[in-house]
Amino acid sequence: MNEPHVNLSNAGRPGDDTYKKVIEEISGHKVCPFCQEYLANYHKNPILKEGRNWLVTANMYPYDNAKHHFLFIHKSHIANTEDMPAESFAELQELIAWIVKEYKCPGGTLMMRCGDMALTGATVAHIHAHFIVADYENKDRKPILARVG
Ligand SMILES: [Zn+2]
Repeated sequence: MNEPHVNLSNAGRPGDDTYKKVIEEISGHKVCPFCQEYLANYHKNPILKEGRNWLVTANMYPYDNAKHHFLFIHKSHIANTEDMPAESFAELQELIAWIVKEYKCPGGTLMMRCGDMALTGATVAHIHAHFIVADYENKDRKPILARVG
Protein backbone atom coordinates (compact mmCIF):
# COMPACT_ATOMS: atom_id res chain seq x y z
CA MET A 1 0.00 0.00 0.00
CA ASN A 2 1.47 3.35 -1.04
CA GLU A 3 -0.90 5.63 0.83
CA PRO A 4 0.53 6.96 4.09
CA HIS A 5 -0.88 5.25 7.16
CA VAL A 6 -0.48 8.22 9.49
CA ASN A 7 -0.62 11.99 9.20
CA LEU A 8 1.92 13.84 11.28
CA SER A 9 0.53 17.32 10.66
CA ASN A 10 -2.69 16.40 12.48
CA ALA A 11 -0.91 15.00 15.53
CA GLY A 12 -0.14 18.25 17.34
CA ARG A 13 -1.89 18.98 20.61
CA PRO A 14 -1.58 22.29 22.39
CA GLY A 15 1.00 22.15 25.17
CA ASP A 16 1.77 18.44 24.74
CA ASP A 17 3.95 16.88 22.06
CA THR A 18 3.70 13.28 23.37
CA TYR A 19 1.20 12.19 20.74
CA LYS A 20 3.08 13.92 17.94
CA LYS A 21 6.23 12.00 18.89
CA VAL A 22 4.32 8.71 18.83
CA ILE A 23 2.92 9.41 15.36
CA GLU A 24 6.36 10.53 14.19
CA GLU A 25 7.83 7.19 15.29
CA ILE A 26 5.03 5.20 13.64
CA SER A 27 5.47 7.22 10.45
CA GLY A 28 9.07 6.04 10.27
CA HIS A 29 8.01 2.40 10.52
CA LYS A 30 5.85 2.64 7.37
CA VAL A 31 3.22 0.27 8.73
CA CYS A 32 -0.40 0.73 9.69
CA PRO A 33 -0.55 0.95 13.47
CA PHE A 34 -4.19 -0.22 13.56
CA CYS A 35 -3.80 -3.31 11.40
CA GLN A 36 -4.06 -6.34 13.65
CA GLU A 37 -0.55 -7.60 12.92
CA TYR A 38 0.96 -4.33 14.18
CA LEU A 39 -1.61 -3.10 16.69
CA ALA A 40 0.05 -4.65 19.75
CA ASN A 41 3.32 -2.88 18.89
CA TYR A 42 1.69 0.50 19.36
CA HIS A 43 -1.45 -0.01 21.41
CA LYS A 44 -0.95 -1.27 24.96
CA ASN A 45 -4.44 -0.88 26.41
CA PRO A 46 -6.47 -4.07 26.67
CA ILE A 47 -9.08 -5.00 24.10
CA LEU A 48 -12.33 -4.56 26.01
CA LYS A 49 -14.43 -6.45 23.51
CA GLU A 50 -13.84 -8.12 20.18
CA GLY A 51 -16.68 -8.12 17.72
CA ARG A 52 -16.94 -9.65 14.27
CA ASN A 53 -15.59 -6.50 12.60
CA TRP A 54 -14.30 -4.30 15.41
CA LEU A 55 -12.01 -4.22 18.39
CA VAL A 56 -13.12 -2.03 21.28
CA THR A 57 -10.46 -0.45 23.48
CA ALA A 58 -9.64 2.72 25.38
CA ASN A 59 -7.62 5.35 23.55
CA MET A 60 -4.04 5.51 24.82
CA TYR A 61 -4.05 9.24 24.11
CA PRO A 62 -7.49 10.40 25.24
CA TYR A 63 -8.60 13.92 24.47
CA ASP A 64 -8.14 16.37 27.32
CA ASN A 65 -11.06 16.58 29.75
CA ALA A 66 -12.67 13.30 28.66
CA LYS A 67 -13.87 10.87 31.30
CA HIS A 68 -13.78 8.03 28.77
CA HIS A 69 -12.36 7.92 25.28
CA PHE A 70 -13.05 4.61 23.58
CA LEU A 71 -11.85 3.51 20.16
CA PHE A 72 -13.57 1.10 17.83
CA ILE A 73 -10.89 -0.17 15.46
CA HIS A 74 -12.08 -1.92 12.32
CA LYS A 75 -10.47 -5.37 12.16
CA SER A 76 -9.72 -5.23 8.46
CA HIS A 77 -7.84 -2.34 6.89
CA ILE A 78 -10.12 0.10 5.15
CA ALA A 79 -9.72 3.86 4.99
CA ASN A 80 -13.10 5.01 3.71
CA THR A 81 -16.53 4.58 5.21
CA GLU A 82 -17.97 3.94 1.76
CA ASP A 83 -15.91 0.75 1.71
CA MET A 84 -17.34 -0.41 5.03
CA PRO A 85 -19.80 -3.26 4.81
CA ALA A 86 -23.28 -2.42 6.10
CA GLU A 87 -22.76 -5.12 8.69
CA SER A 88 -19.89 -3.10 10.17
CA PHE A 89 -22.14 -0.10 10.69
CA ALA A 90 -24.76 -2.31 12.33
CA GLU A 91 -22.20 -3.91 14.59
CA LEU A 92 -20.76 -0.53 15.53
CA GLN A 93 -24.19 0.45 16.81
CA GLU A 94 -24.34 -2.75 18.89
CA LEU A 95 -20.90 -2.10 20.35
CA ILE A 96 -21.74 1.50 21.24
CA ALA A 97 -24.82 0.22 23.05
CA TRP A 98 -22.57 -2.23 24.90
CA ILE A 99 -20.18 0.57 25.94
CA VAL A 100 -23.02 2.82 27.07
CA LYS A 101 -24.45 0.06 29.23
CA GLU A 102 -21.14 -1.34 30.51
CA TYR A 103 -19.74 2.05 31.52
CA LYS A 104 -23.10 3.61 32.40
CA CYS A 105 -22.52 6.54 30.04
CA PRO A 106 -25.32 9.10 30.26
CA GLY A 107 -24.11 10.67 26.98
CA GLY A 108 -21.23 10.57 24.55
CA THR A 109 -19.96 11.74 21.19
CA LEU A 110 -19.44 9.37 18.29
CA MET A 111 -16.86 10.55 15.78
CA MET A 112 -15.42 8.81 12.74
CA ARG A 113 -13.10 10.40 10.20
CA CYS A 114 -12.66 8.86 6.79
CA GLY A 115 -10.81 9.42 3.57
CA ASP A 116 -8.15 12.07 2.89
CA MET A 117 -6.51 12.76 6.24
CA ALA A 118 -5.51 16.25 5.10
CA LEU A 119 -9.22 17.11 5.17
CA THR A 120 -10.36 15.33 8.32
CA GLY A 121 -7.87 15.90 11.11
CA ALA A 122 -7.20 12.16 11.33
CA THR A 123 -3.80 10.86 12.34
CA VAL A 124 -4.42 7.21 11.40
CA ALA A 125 -5.99 6.33 8.04
CA HIS A 126 -7.31 2.91 9.11
CA ILE A 127 -11.02 3.30 9.92
CA HIS A 128 -11.74 3.76 13.60
CA ALA A 129 -14.50 5.42 15.53
CA HIS A 130 -14.18 7.44 18.70
CA PHE A 131 -16.72 7.40 21.49
CA ILE A 132 -15.94 10.21 23.89
CA VAL A 133 -17.67 10.74 27.19
CA ALA A 134 -17.49 14.02 29.11
CA ASP A 135 -16.64 14.06 32.79
CA TYR A 136 -20.32 13.99 33.65
CA GLU A 137 -19.88 13.80 37.41
CA ASN A 138 -17.80 16.99 37.49
CA LYS A 139 -20.01 20.05 37.42
CA ASP A 140 -16.94 22.19 36.63
CA ARG A 141 -15.95 20.06 33.65
CA LYS A 142 -14.28 21.68 30.69
CA PRO A 143 -15.18 21.11 27.04
CA ILE A 144 -13.46 18.41 25.02
CA LEU A 145 -11.95 19.77 21.83
CA ALA A 146 -11.05 17.67 18.80
CA ARG A 147 -9.44 18.41 15.46
CA VAL A 148 -11.87 18.08 12.58
CA GLY A 149 -10.95 19.17 9.12
ZN1 LIG B 1 -4.59 -0.80 8.85
